[in-house]
Amino acid sequence: MTNSPATPARLVVGIDLGTTNSLAAVRAGKGARVLRDQDGEPLIPSVVCFAPDGQTHVGRTAKALRLTHPDRTVFSIKRLIGRSAREIGEEKQRLPYTVVAGERDLPRVQIGDRNWTPEEISSLILQKVKATAEQALGQVVREAVVTVPAWFDDAQRQATKDAATLAGLDCLRILNEPTAAALAYGIDGTRDGTALVYDLGGGTFDVSILRIEDGVFRVLSTAGDTHLGGDDFDELLAQRILRTLPTTSDPYVLQAVRAAAESLKIRLSDAETAELQLDLGERSAGHLSTSLTVTRSEFEAAIAPLVQRTLDCVQRAVKDAGLRLDQISDIVLVGGSTRVPLVRARLQAMTGKVPHTGVDPDLAVALGAAIQADVLAGNDRSLLLLDVIPLSLGLETLGGAVQKLILRNSTIPTSVTEEFSTGVDNQTAVDLTIYQGERELSKDCRLLGHFKLRGIPPLPAGLPRIAVTFLVDADGVLRVTAREQRTGAQASIQIVPSFGLTREEVRRMMFESIENAQADYVAREQIDVRNKAEAMVRGTQKAMLLAELPPDQTYAVQKALKALAKLLVANANAETLKHGCDELTKVTATIADDVISSAVTKALREEER
Ligand code: AMP
Repeated sequence: MTNSPATPARLVVGIDLGTTNSLAAVRAGKGARVLRDQDGEPLIPSVVCFAPDGQTHVGRTAKALRLTHPDRTVFSIKRLIGRSAREIGEEKQRLPYTVVAGERDLPRVQIGDRNWTPEEISSLILQKVKATAEQALGQVVREAVVTVPAWFDDAQRQATKDAATLAGLDCLRILNEPTAAALAYGIDGTRDGTALVYDLGGGTFDVSILRIEDGVFRVLSTAGDTHLGGDDFDELLAQRILRTLPTTSDPYVLQAVRAAAESLKIRLSDAETAELQLDLGERSAGHLSTSLTVTRSEFEAAIAPLVQRTLDCVQRAVKDAGLRLDQISDIVLVGGSTRVPLVRARLQAMTGKVPHTGVDPDLAVALGAAIQADVLAGNDRSLLLLDVIPLSLGLETLGGAVQKLILRNSTIPTSVTEEFSTGVDNQTAVDLTIYQGERELSKDCRLLGHFKLRGIPPLPAGLPRIAVTFLVDADGVLRVTAREQRTGAQASIQIVPSFGLTREEVRRMMFESIENAQADYVAREQIDVRNKAEAMVRGTQKAMLLAELPPDQTYAVQKALKALAKLLVANANAETLKHGCDELTKVTATIADDVISSAVTKALREEER
């Protein structure tokens, strides 16, 4: 008898597709390990250079070419992915390469006479990550979990997924970066709590508050600054170095000073003082060299206002989550700049908690993604990990109200089905318009898309039964399907909104919904009462055609009916309309067991379906 070989574990890698650097990791034992290139380097700069000789370079070589080919070297593509050209207007100004508006107002990076989509450029980075992982593992990689910031909207998530597909990767899940970081620190959902994830990288700062409950990770709030990070610390030190040199705009000198500043900064994370000897050789301004010593306290004094800005964001995120600082159970550090001692000290002083520092902050997101990847691969069934959708999803109903089918913070994947009907007799098609947001009226929500369901049998209003299903898959992609139950006529749409939402907008939408709760309630009630009154008028009119009533009762019903119809024409307020409905109900209800009340009730019931 022979032992049957163990089933090889399914390989799914975790990928941190970063603004500055990207990397992959795989599950190893209880934790995970990063996958390094031949030089032992785990970080792949998220940079692509389309050299004039037609060669495409990705990663470290591309980064090195940035100085000689600034207009052909693409970095920070994550700032553009899944967004419209209109939205990235300001971002565009900061980039040395050319970004133009393409089809459907989507941005394109123009290199020579070729235009590249952000998805294509991201896919080149992912291909490099994939190849590095394959070399490290000695096997082909086909499946991955890719991380994105918690505030990425559906369009940005879908575009990231598309980039993975283009790179030949099946992206099993788009995972929130703070959730991944928490996982890397062993916060695996087995213990309930609230984690603050502080992510300070080279160019961006994000803070997220996570609630971990029954194995489910929910992002309670996010805050941050898309242009704040270690690069700003470097800039302050670079200015200090430049003050010791003759004034120059030589890009080589500026770049070398920048690199020297970063090295000084990194050394100051471990030492109280750092020395710099910089020899820039013969330049147009003559032989340039300098030497200086910087103390940690000097450096800290310079960066203190920037660190304070991050702390202000932390305060805001905690407040937005409806929490106090003392209710945070864990503080998780992500991003290379959290190695700066002042950052840790200030964060600790403010929160009164020692941040977790056991995991390399550059690698935490990829390591967590690898843990989640392994769970999805089915190799580890001890952990269930779910994410949530940030804003409610709903359908526009009569009068411009929005009926929410999937509520904000629902864990994904999720699916909800509700039944709707027509509002007009013999209607054979209905328009379905999908909105995102917390407000009651469609005009205050974000339009996601619309489609038409045709082939509805011509029936009186309220009789067709249309089942509408909202399904959000594990990647946050929404599919809406409408099906007429009698005929089976069906139509559906997959929402990939062409306009992304900025984090500020998500926050604004949440804030506005709270601010306007009272006014929205009143407006919504007005629409609901109006819909009800219209249905009553229609139902009673129909019933009157069938009913044979004594003249005095006919007169009473007609009078109440006319009064209500008049109120509708006059656009009366909810209170008055309600009163009109009550009056009509009174005269129809007094006719005990009469055809009218049963016909009206029936008609109403059908309208309400
Ligand atoms: P990330 O975007 O997470 O890769 O972070 C990159 C940033 O972390 C860059 O600004 C680096 O200069 C910075 N960084 C890396 N290591 C250190 C360190 N030991 N001390 C201070 N900053 C660091």
